[in-house]
Amino acid sequence: MHISKLFIPLLKETPSEAKIKSHQLMLRAGMIKQSSTGIYSWLPLGFKIMKKIEQIVREEQDKIGAQELLMPTIQSAEIWKESGRYEDYGEEMLRIKDRQGKELLYGPTNEELITEIFRASIKSYKSLPQILYHIQWKFRDELRPRFGVMRCKEFFMKDAYSFDLSDEKAKISYNKMFFAYLNTFKRLGLTAIPMAAETGPIGGDLSHEFVILADTGESKIYSDKRIFDIDITSHNDSEKSIKDLRKKYDEYYAVTDDKFRKEDFEKKVKKENQLMTKGIEVGHIFYFGDKYSKPLKCSVDLQDGKKIDVKMGSYGIGVSRLVGAIIEAKFNNNIMKWPESVSPFDVALIPSLQKNDKSNLLKAEKIYKSLKESNIDVLIDDTDEHLSAKFKKFDLIGIPYQIIIGTKSTNDKFEFKEVNGKTETLSLSEIKDKLLKKRNLN
Ligand code: ATP
Ligand code: MG
Repeated sequence: MHISKLFIPLLKETPSEAKIKSHQLMLRAGMIKQSSTGIYSWLPLGFKIMKKIEQIVREEQDKIGAQELLMPTIQSAEIWKESGRYEDYGEEMLRIKDRQGKELLYGPTNEELITEIFRASIKSYKSLPQILYHIQWKFRDELRPRFGVMRCKEFFMKDAYSFDLSDEKAKISYNKMFFAYLNTFKRLGLTAIPMAAETGPIGGDLSHEFVILADTGESKIYSDKRIFDIDITSHNDSEKSIKDLRKKYDEYYAVTDDKFRKEDFEKKVKKENQLMTKGIEVGHIFYFGDKYSKPLKCSVDLQDGKKIDVKMGSYGIGVSRLVGAIIEAKFNNNIMKWPESVSPFDVALIPSLQKNDKSNLLKAEKIYKSLKESNIDVLIDDTDEHLSAKFKKFDLIGIPYQIIIGTKSTNDKFEFKEVNGKTETLSLSEIKDKLLKKRNLN
């Protein structure tokens, strides 16, 4: 892509309404544009990054055997009345009527709808277990939308639902999802810690919020800081390995605000390991048994002729919130560096243009062509701006690698810089090797 052709409305000034760095960067880098309070359009740069995040989320769901489907954004009010949540959900739910006066709503979540789909199709114990998911827009009429994509009314979410025959089996599905979440966030370059969360009136201890540390986060968390050092790479997707990993996490105290008891915390965690801080919730997993299957009569026939209400769990990831969360984690001293796995481009190509001398641009165009032929996604700066202005721009766009065609480059060796890292002088084939290797690691 040539930057002169890219639709990227960069802002020089930080808009005053943006209070946290992710919101500021997303506006300045032309990633999003607010269309009304809490509702955003995603412009090409922001959309490209979100799509990459979505794809990683999808791949990790597929790896544990979850199957993707797509439910509509608009749901019928009827099923919500069946579950009893139509009234309970309150003002966060956007209620709509069609021309026949039929009550509809813009889905804030999908437990009811997926249960309705499941009960209509699955009749026998033989078809279980199942995990179904979709990645779809949600709408919640939040009281205080703020912080850009962090808390908005319309947001993009992955939500999965598991169906099992017993509490024991449901725990296996839950653990698989726990494992998938850890891998997902790791691939996104984040350290997200599962924190035990309150399960509400259903009881039990099976709910975890996945939280990344950030001063601007809205969640208060209390943990034994050693939980951050758990290494997940030695675990595979076998049932036993996943269970062992769960155990490792369970060994350390880590809870959200509503589960926090000061006495417990001080008793269980040595002073030097106590970490009380703020974080951003990027995912939430939940086991709730027959909470929805019972009122919605979602049961299957067992081998002995009896019927059983299926045991369900639900599992959310805030895909659009993650764009902001990654920025909160990675944007420092006014320089953004996207993790390679979600960067909008693999590399930036920045020729320095001297007055009336286009030779660096010509050189860069040749390199551009060659990189494209090797399937490397490159953004070339073909403007005649001063080099320092170009660098400022790329500080916002956040591509982790730059090839700079200027005084330090020769005919066949070029300045190759890792943002916030070292600069080397490399041949084009060495540069390609490096970039392709990085990509394979992701
Ligand atoms: P929160 O406590 O932040 O309101 P929640 O408990 O309501 O979150 P869930 O219903 O579990 O969230 O939704 C799953 C995920 O969707 C959350 O972990 C979060 O990442 C994301 N999410 C929830 N609400 C919003 C929102 N208003 N804007 C953007 N993302 C959201
Ligand atoms: Mg909420």
